[in-house]
Amino acid sequence: LAKRHEGYSPYLNLGTSTPVAARSILGLDGLMPTKVESLDVQKKRALVQLRAKSTDMEKYMFLAHLRNTNVSLFYKIVCDELSEMAPIIYTPTVGKACLEYSHIYPFLAPPGVPDGLYITKDSLPNLPQILRDYSAALSDQAAFQPEITVISDGSRILGLGDLGMNGMGIPIGKLQLYVAGAGIDPRKTLPILLDLGTNNDSLLNDEFYLGVKQTRPNDDEFYSAVDQTINALYETFPNILVQFEDWSTSHAFTLLQKYQHERFCFNDDIQGTGAVVLAGLINAFRQVAKDTPIENHRILFSGAGSAAFGVAKHICDYLIIEHGIPEEKAKAMFWTVDSKGLVYDGRGDKLPEHKRYFSRKDSVGSGTKSLSEIVKAIKPTTLIGLSSQPDSFDANVLQEMSKINHRPIIFPLSNPRTQAECSFEAAMTHTNNQVLFASGTAFPPYKIPETGEIKKPGQGNNVYVFPGIGLGSIVSKSKHVTTSMVLAAAKGLANSLTPEETARGDLYPSLNRIRDVSATVAAHVCKVAEKSNQLQNQSLAGLSIDQLTKTMREKMWDPETAFNTIEDIENSA
Ligand code: NAP
Ligand code: MN
Repeated sequence: LAKRHEGYSPYLNLGTSTPVAARSILGLDGLMPTKVESLDVQKKRALVQLRAKSTDMEKYMFLAHLRNTNVSLFYKIVCDELSEMAPIIYTPTVGKACLEYSHIYPFLAPPGVPDGLYITKDSLPNLPQILRDYSAALSDQAAFQPEITVISDGSRILGLGDLGMNGMGIPIGKLQLYVAGAGIDPRKTLPILLDLGTNNDSLLNDEFYLGVKQTRPNDDEFYSAVDQTINALYETFPNILVQFEDWSTSHAFTLLQKYQHERFCFNDDIQGTGAVVLAGLINAFRQVAKDTPIENHRILFSGAGSAAFGVAKHICDYLIIEHGIPEEKAKAMFWTVDSKGLVYDGRGDKLPEHKRYFSRKDSVGSGTKSLSEIVKAIKPTTLIGLSSQPDSFDANVLQEMSKINHRPIIFPLSNPRTQAECSFEAAMTHTNNQVLFASGTAFPPYKIPETGEIKKPGQGNNVYVFPGIGLGSIVSKSKHVTTSMVLAAAKGLANSLTPEETARGDLYPSLNRIRDVSATVAAHVCKVAEKSNQLQNQSLAGLSIDQLTKTMREKMWDPETAFNTIEDIENSA
């Protein structure tokens, strides 16, 4: 009898909340203190311990240990205290964890509790069996087949570059946010790291590095490995949604183009970012709608790299699809600036494809590299920074924006904070506190000196959209994740603000309401899936946004009740 709790999964472990009857079924009598307490009390105790840690890395490891021993308690904490926990289980702390991943590893994965699936070239031929075994290790019930995977090859982890296998922290963290944010059952999530090597010398020379110690393969071998992985995934789990995450930029665009119309997948760095910035902009446009009708906006991008193109294209597609603005007219609402100044047809250099789409036909704003001069010439309503040029939105630029617009829209989106084009404080100071602001990185609130009023900056954090995009796509059983579904996610997010948030001029909702927000986002995604013939879950056909939102909210996994039945425990023992 004493052996019966062996094989008892951390997914079912209730710790000191294990009921008396269950303790006796499992042969746990005497193996833990007698007191039976609520999950709430367990949470309180764990929070005291967590908050006593002096560094974020210690907090990360404490939470990783908790997730590997008591899944309910881990998610109870993450779900209830998401604003506090997101910066630990995800950015910025997860970045540090990835840098250290091979050094902290034993804390992350005790035997029998896989934290994710590591695929190498050698495992490709056996992949379907490996996938089935992974799934069985989480649950022996077919009902718990994975329904979503986040997959990376570790080649561009956040802004940290090639971290090889150490990048596994990202799929793990993202899927934890799926559980917290969209109520996906943790047993149905599958973090994958496709380990094809790394070009990072310091990892190749690190005795503790746990990944494949060779440099990355050429493109032929790379695409063939990804193909085999994707094929094995769909062969084993035909309905699985694949989220591509943190792949090197050129591969990311190519993989998305290759699979988005064939498979059930999306790329969060491209599409999630596009949607979350668009949502903030939709709300900013609403705030100034009396002064500026939507088609009169003039949107200036500082930076014309892959991120700028992806974001600008989503905004442009939205103007075309949602507002019926003809493509040429919509395109003409955009200006892009790169390291040489304004991007325009007459510049005389050969523009790469991603710069050509928004290249200006005219030359207004050319002939200078000074951003404030360019702003003066173009008179934008909106200034978006994706240039990684710290403080390039200086006092001159901000004051110029403020002269042109009563409420200038200014989004310094470069990450991390050291790269941001301006701080929230600078943006407030130089615009008479009138700025409509969103950044890529989190800035502290700002106290207006004259009035003492505290203003909170918006953060265009992808966590607002990807859980809802995933949930909506999965629940609707869509065939693909289409561009219009991604745009619908942005609209859903923009619409999820409370009247109080809108009245305050907020551009994004509070992260503490993330499950309601994700439900709204998912409902919009689902509705558009239906309109564009993607919906295969016929029970959702014809439902209103409100009804869909309610359905999405009801489907969410709840750590409080999920594993709480004696029946579950009897089945597992
Ligand atoms: P990238 O491809 O290297 O693009 C950088 C762009 O900035 C290039 O077009 C470059 O010009 C331009 N640039 C360089 N110096 C400039 C200057 N002085 N003035 C204006 N533009 C200048 O990088 P990326 O992948 O697009 O990423 C850019 C930034 O966006 C990063 O900081 C990243 O963290 C951030 N980002 C944020 C989010 C988010 O908020 N969720 C998502 C994705 C990316 P050339 O083309 O002439 O070199
Ligand atoms: Mn990413």
